[in-house]
Amino acid sequence: MYNFDEFKVDIENSKEKGLYVNIRNLFSAQGAWLNVDGKKVLNMCSNNYLGLADDNELKKAAIQGIEKWGVGPGAVRTIAGTMEIHNILENKLAEFKGVEATIVLQSGFTANQAVIPVVAGKEDAILSDKLNHASIIDGVRLTKAKRYVWEHRDPNDLRKKLEEAKNDGAKKLLVITDGVFSMDGDLAPLPDLAEVCEEFNAILMVDDAHGEGVLGSHGRGIVDHFNLHGKVDIEVGTLSKAFGIVGGFVAGKKNLIDYLKQKARPFLFSSSLSPAETAAGIAAVEKLSRSDELVKKLWSNAEYFKKKLIKLGFDCGHSETPITPVMLYDAKLSSEFSKKLYDEGIFASSIGFPTVPRGEARIRVMISAAHTKEDLDFAVEKFESVGKDLNVIK
Ligand code: PMP
Repeated sequence: MYNFDEFKVDIENSKEKGLYVNIRNLFSAQGAWLNVDGKKVLNMCSNNYLGLADDNELKKAAIQGIEKWGVGPGAVRTIAGTMEIHNILENKLAEFKGVEATIVLQSGFTANQAVIPVVAGKEDAILSDKLNHASIIDGVRLTKAKRYVWEHRDPNDLRKKLEEAKNDGAKKLLVITDGVFSMDGDLAPLPDLAEVCEEFNAILMVDDAHGEGVLGSHGRGIVDHFNLHGKVDIEVGTLSKAFGIVGGFVAGKKNLIDYLKQKARPFLFSSSLSPAETAAGIAAVEKLSRSDELVKKLWSNAEYFKKKLIKLGFDCGHSETPITPVMLYDAKLSSEFSKKLYDEGIFASSIGFPTVPRGEARIRVMISAAHTKEDLDFAVEKFESVGKDLNVIK
């Protein structure tokens, strides 16, 4: 038997550099507070932006979904058939997003794998922001299209790269950007990108994973936030973050979505979203359409927390969203900071290379509507004491 010793060595090395990921074991549902190995800690690292992961309405819908439709979809929808709830979810998402149609996939990750290789082939060019998410990078790797990477959030550099791609003879030009960049919480300059894409007749695709349920009216996403309806060709979304479930989708023109249902490999070769997830997805869209209360609470919590941390002297990068990076730069320091916070009852992960570039380690704090003001005050107090203890702030 092969013993994989080289992996063990690599893990030991990463521990020395403060880059080893210590995966905590949870004994409670996602929420503001967690039971981690019997210890009660304030949760500051999930993408459960609206607290929907343990929401009673969604849980009830999931249980009813199981009671009516069972626990599994049987196979892929092209072979075993589409359950009525899949169609209902897709139609409701299309209405919510203000697009012609959507296709639901197993996750945001697979949504990127589904759409990118269908849209761009070997005669085409894909242009990608330098800091795009791993699932976009992997989706691009699945194609034979020529790749061009433009400087982060720089429409002028995108213009240069589009000219280059055109001169290289590319047929279709596919421009892809994250909507919200998940490690820094900054936004894609989508209006500028849309303008540049129009100049070049390029296809514009945005991965709105961290904008879904967060940005725009009632959490309709980044396109709604910038009022760019009809100007963005492809939106990728996830049900795994603010929607509190697991799943992903692609939203856009009916022509595109119909074609994805014929050609997208994760749709054709991997079983669909389970009935529980699908039914909970419908409940989540209905809940968000009905009320924007949770979205508003999320933003007021984020502003409250960020302001207090900046006032204490922390470097919170250039976040424009509830994602709050606390920049420590050094991976060992960041890992130590996270450990000390944990001892004080705060669960906030340290993030280092390769998730962020080397020398840019940070604690990434994820604010949720599930947090109360008392929770946030508790967190601020602990950040202050650990920050002083480790000489990060005075
Ligand atoms: N795209 C982006 C920009 C993301 O941040 C993430 C999640 N980290 C994904 C896609 C993947 O989403 P999911 O968890 O639904 O696979």
